[in-house]
Amino acid sequence: MNTYGDRPLTFVRGEGCWLFDSDGKKYLDALGGIAVCGLGHANPEIAETIATQAKTLLHTSNLYNIPLQQKLADELTRISGMDQVFFANSGAEANEAAIKLARLYGHKKGVESPSIVVMEHAFHGRTLATLTATGNRKVQAGFEPLVKGFIRAPYNDVQAISRIAENSANVVAILVEPVQGEGGVHIPSANYLNELRAICDTKGWLLMLDEVQTGNGRTGRYFTYQHNDILPDVVTTAKGLGNGFPIGACLARGKADDVFAPGNHGSTYGGNPLACSVALKVLEIIERDHLANRARILGEIIRQGFEQQLRDCQMVGDIRGLGLMIGIELQKPCAALVQQAADKGLLINVTSGNTIRLLPPLTFSDQQADLLIETLVPLIQQFQG
Ligand SMILES: *Cc1c(COP(=O)(O)O)cnc(C)c1O
Repeated sequence: MNTYGDRPLTFVRGEGCWLFDSDGKKYLDALGGIAVCGLGHANPEIAETIATQAKTLLHTSNLYNIPLQQKLADELTRISGMDQVFFANSGAEANEAAIKLARLYGHKKGVESPSIVVMEHAFHGRTLATLTATGNRKVQAGFEPLVKGFIRAPYNDVQAISRIAENSANVVAILVEPVQGEGGVHIPSANYLNELRAICDTKGWLLMLDEVQTGNGRTGRYFTYQHNDILPDVVTTAKGLGNGFPIGACLARGKADDVFAPGNHGSTYGGNPLACSVALKVLEIIERDHLANRARILGEIIRQGFEQQLRDCQMVGDIRGLGLMIGIELQKPCAALVQQAADKGLLINVTSGNTIRLLPPLTFSDQQADLLIETLVPLIQQFQG
């Protein structure tokens, strides 16, 4: 179906932070499959893990015990400080689990028509519930009737949430990205999550963080909330967890524990032996190679490089980032830059119309960071819009 429009590039092979097209041309990948391939393309350890597990056991269904699923749950809960995990196959599915969990939590508390606070410019996925939670009319248009039970608030505005807390009796949870990705790489104030945590504690709401894009080392800690020394009640993850193998997870703790009982939720593929073996290897490599720390340091270097070299550029409105999640906002719509960069052998993304989004693999080298800046800066300086 025509869901993706024209796709001018065709890649046939990858190696680390490089992709090769069908003509053999080489591209530096500063997008990493949209924050998915954190360990680079054709990672030999991941390839070996997939091959070995494929020769042992791919799938049994969740009718049976899956020891690798338990092992991955143990690792994820250790790293995150959470207690329990539900495994899915994508970010949207992980968020669906969170939304269902919040509703069931509400019903158990006697809230008949529970609602969830979500943010303007949020992105949570493309299923009916998650596109309703998404704060972008383009994603929703034509798919009405939308799902009930969501209240919209401005991002990074604690007072707006406090007003909702005073006026709405049905709220059971907040669902929020710790950094908005698709919405334009928006980084909230340093204590935003702490203040949301406090409101949720006072009101008995679940704080549910969508770390599908920000998780797995991307912003400089394994999960972004770890910068804030808080724990959410629910956190979802996907993208970087499988390095390209589809997997998603919804983690819970505290008052979100044991909300689901047998029969309340499930998945045929979720947490199958192959997916779990890959994610276990991803976690092992991120920890062993200190890749979250590397993302923090390299992200800072890249952001400063752009700031220095684009200081006098009229076209640039703002440069922002946390770890290897970097946004360069221009004064004009700049989707045309994607092809101009590809012509120069560089893969970038433009989101929210006028924001260049960079999500390079966590394994990006210093030289690749220099090459990224050297290639992109002149394109921005010359950009006419
Ligand atoms: C990509 C993304 C999703 C959706 O993930 P899919 O795997 O495409 O379903 C949800 N939330 C955020 C924050 C994302 O970046």
